Formats: sequence, structure tokens, C-alpha cells
Amino acid sequence: VHNPNSMSKEYDYLIVGAGLSGSVFAHEAKKRGYRCLVIDKRPHFGGNVYCEQIAGINVHQYGPHIFHTDNKEVWDYVNSFVEFNRFTNSPLACVNGRMYNLPFNLNTFYRLWGVRTPSEAKDKIEEQRKRFAHISSPSNLEEQALKLCGEDIYQLLIKGYTEKQWGRKCTELPTSIIKRLPFRFTFDNNYFNDRYQGVPIGGYNKLISKLLDGIEVRLGVDYIRDRTELNQIADSIFYTGCIDEYFDHSLGYLEYRSLRFEHTLLEIDNYQGNAVVNFTDRSVPYTRVIEHKHFEFGKQPNTIITHEYPNAYKHGEEPYYPINNQRNNELYEKYKSLANQQSNVVFCGRLAEYKYYDMDDVIENVLNLWK
Ligand code: UDP
Repeated sequence: VHNPNSMSKEYDYLIVGAGLSGSVFAHEAKKRGYRCLVIDKRPHFGGNVYCEQIAGINVHQYGPHIFHTDNKEVWDYVNSFVEFNRFTNSPLACVNGRMYNLPFNLNTFYRLWGVRTPSEAKDKIEEQRKRFAHISSPSNLEEQALKLCGEDIYQLLIKGYTEKQWGRKCTELPTSIIKRLPFRFTFDNNYFNDRYQGVPIGGYNKLISKLLDGIEVRLGVDYIRDRTELNQIADSIFYTGCIDEYFDHSLGYLEYRSLRFEHTLLEIDNYQGNAVVNFTDRSVPYTRVIEHKHFEFGKQPNTIITHEYPNAYKHGEEPYYPINNQRNNELYEKYKSLANQQSNVVFCGRLAEYKYYDMDDVIENVLNLWK
């Protein structure tokens, strides 16, 4: 988008948002000699990967982030800024006081039904699925889950969690949410199938500060509020905020799902023995408990845990997940046509593209812009 002949303004790029998209973009632009200014309305950089250090523990302020990718180029890229540890996400699900391993694997099946081998497990799952074989093309998440997993797994491990998380019934949710819950017929509790996985040694802030090294960053600056002046100082804009907000919600509001976090410092060294425990009961109000020290194998005398509560989104709160149902996707497409008409603005990232990106996809996406 940048026109190298128009060097009239103070900066080549104004980067709106100091999260992962904005930081990678700024880094790549600076590397190529462009003058960049990064702004963020929050009082810190890093967007949702930002961690606050409390009692020597990196606390993931906006929910647990585990880096995983199949893309070697992206893995090498992040490792060129900071070394990653060997953390492997192996969450547990707690329901009715019992613990089950995730993702669904032989440990889970053994705990559920006492089956010990892959073939016993497969027979049991076939038996569970048989009742739902008549569902040829599932029209909602409930049908999809029952067809894939059968009654036991759906009732115990999926229904309550999903309805809490999304604030609506499984019969009113799209099938796409549940498609990525695979079965595994080994005793492997690794949640992700990707080849590379880990957490930055020293935390995510280290990654972001390396990316932003030597780049001017102004925090507490609200682009939407001050855009008349801010637009004057750069030739081009890299925008990572909500796309509907950019256009003053002129076509209507996009919906998001929000979260609320309650952090607690405990004077014990180990609370739950794992970084992530999901609570899949409908009756428990939170969805997960995170124990942050375990992401970095911490040996601190104390521990910090976070209860993660799903939360209805109202304009002005933090938008976390886009709700990609038909209504919202259609509205997004309309905003996107408006965005395409903006000649010197790039819309990029989870909020600007209204897409639930993993961290590696964010990075791949931005790197591709420069190819
Ligand atoms: N899910 C579930 N039970 C669980 C964990 C996940 O039913 O114990 C479902 C739920 O619908 C959720 C989806 O799987 O929205 C994706 O969850 P995942 O943990 O992969 O995504 P995250 O919310 O961490 O981004």
C-alpha cells in the first residue's frame, strides 16, 4: 500500500495496535527502512499475549497462550527473537469431581468406560455413535458432536463447556466450532497436532519487545478518538482494531464473545498440578482455571491462578472471539468491501479481519504481506 514517492509525512506507517499483528508488521517495515509509529489504546504493548509479572510469575492477562505451529518458517521466525521452552499443552477436564484427559484419547476413554486398547475404544465409540447415524449432515453443534462422539462424551465434556463459553445453546451454534476436537487412539495427551510447540522462555513480552526494538511506540493513544490528527502524521495505516469500529458501526455492530479473568495469588507452590484445567459442568460458572507458573515450569514458592469466566460482550469491553455465524459473516463482508475502498489502509488481524486466528496464523499472514 505504501507509496515510496510520497515522503511528505513524518512516518511512512502508522500502526494501530501493538499486538502480534502490529508488532510483526512494524518489525518487517522497519527492517526495510520504513519509518514507523506504533500506537495502542491500552497502557501496554503485546495485545492479548501481554503478560504481567507477579511474584516472579508471568501471568497471561488475557487468557492462556500456547504457541503451536506446523509452519517451519514461522517457528524459525519467532525463535530468532526468543528461545522457546518445551511446554506441551495437555489440559484436563474436571466434571462432577472427576478428571479426564484432553484431547479425547485412550486415557480419556479408559477413564470413561474402562476400555484399555485402541480396538476396545473404537468398538465403544461405534456403539455410542450408532444412535446418531441417521444425522447425515449436522445442522448445528449438538448434532455434529453427537454424530462424532456419541452421548457420553457430548454430555460430560462438550455440552456444558460449549454452552457456557458461547452463551447459547449447542443447538444454536455452528458446527465449525467443534470440528477441531479429534479422537486419538494413543495415550497421548498433547492437545495440539502441530509439529512445533512451546512458550517463550522469559515470557511473551520478551518476544514483543524484541519485535518492537528501536520502533517508536505510544501507549494510551486511541486511534478512533484522535484519528483526524493521527491520519496526518503517516502516509499509510496498518489497522488492527475492530473493523466495525473503524467505520463507526455504520452498517451495524459485529458480535463478539468476551471473557472475564479473576487472578488470585496463593501462598502455596502448586495448586492444580497443570497449567490448564477445563470445567465442563454447566453448574460451575467459570470455564477454566489457569495456573500460570506451569507454562514455564516455575519453581516459585507461590502460585497465581486465574478463573476464566465467559462474558457477554457489550461495546466498550474487550472483544475476544468473533462469533462467526451467518449474520455476522455477512455483515463483515459488507465492511470488508468498504475496507477495500480505503486506498492507504491495510486491515489485518483477528479484529480487523473478524477471524479467530491462532498466533502462528497471525504471523504467517503478516509475513506474507511482505512477500
Ligand atoms: N470444547 C469443549 N470442551 C472442552 C474444551 C473445548 O467442548 O473441554 C469445545 C468448545 O466448544 C470450545 C471449542 O471446543 O469452544 C474450542 O476449544 P479450544 O480449547 O480448542 O479453543 P480456545 O477456546 O482455547 O480458543
